[in-house]
Amino acid sequence: MSALLELTGIRKSFGDHEVLAGIDLDLAEHEVVALVGASGSGKSTLLRCVNLLERIDDGRIVLAGDDISDPRVVADRVRSRIGVVFQHYNLFPHLSVIDNVTLAARHVHRMSKTDAAEKGLALLERIGLGSKAKEYPDRLSGGQQQRVAIVRALVTDPELLLLDEITSALDPELVGEVLDLVRSLKEQGATILMATHEMGFAREVADRVVFLDGGAIVEQAAPDAFFDRPQQERTQRFLARLR
Ligand code: ADP
Ligand code: MG
Repeated sequence: MSALLELTGIRKSFGDHEVLAGIDLDLAEHEVVALVGASGSGKSTLLRCVNLLERIDDGRIVLAGDDISDPRVVADRVRSRIGVVFQHYNLFPHLSVIDNVTLAARHVHRMSKTDAAEKGLALLERIGLGSKAKEYPDRLSGGQQQRVAIVRALVTDPELLLLDEITSALDPELVGEVLDLVRSLKEQGATILMATHEMGFAREVADRVVFLDGGAIVEQAAPDAFFDRPQQERTQRFLARLR
């Protein structure tokens, strides 16, 4: 089976600081891959490159057979195929939940207002937030807001989901509901590339854990092998620091 996402030789520098030093990584359809690594190792930059928020300096990004790193590609068209959720959910405070969920779908991805609203409401209902559709974000808990941000990313039926530390701004008691939602997306067959510092969650949900250090992949393995039998000294040190 060919990969849904193929990253080949991805390089990215900011000035003379090389942040991604040649990343090769493939994701199969329905695969969940956890990106782990110390702060500054390049996880967010890699996700931003995949979503074309950063232009790569070298390499290739292929999504379902399409070279999306080709400079002629229209970024907005690619972004409707990739759902993204960041650490800070960034809901617009002056828009209702349903308008937050449908705004980009309507204006960037050209869904009709009715289609977007119908789809958005169905998704909100599925996660138990249907009754909040007309509320403003500040009436919701952080966990509910982050789940709304996930729903927003799902409205366009993305082929790939990118999740960047989506629980790290949440109070500990709100983390569980967000992780439950990610778990159910996996069960529904989503393909997910997620940066996370929730090692327990990575172990439980990811099909594969990829350890990034200094902008390079040092080691990758199935979760149990990764956490129980790390092969590289740098991985062992990283994991030891977490204990
Ligand atoms: P992580 O998500 O693993 O913590 P990042 O991808 O955010 O790592 O950052 C990797 C490195 O790239 C850091 O040293 C960071 O300071 C640097 N970096 C990220 N974005 C920029 C930017 N826009 N300009 C300059 N340096 C940046
Ligand atoms: Mg980051």
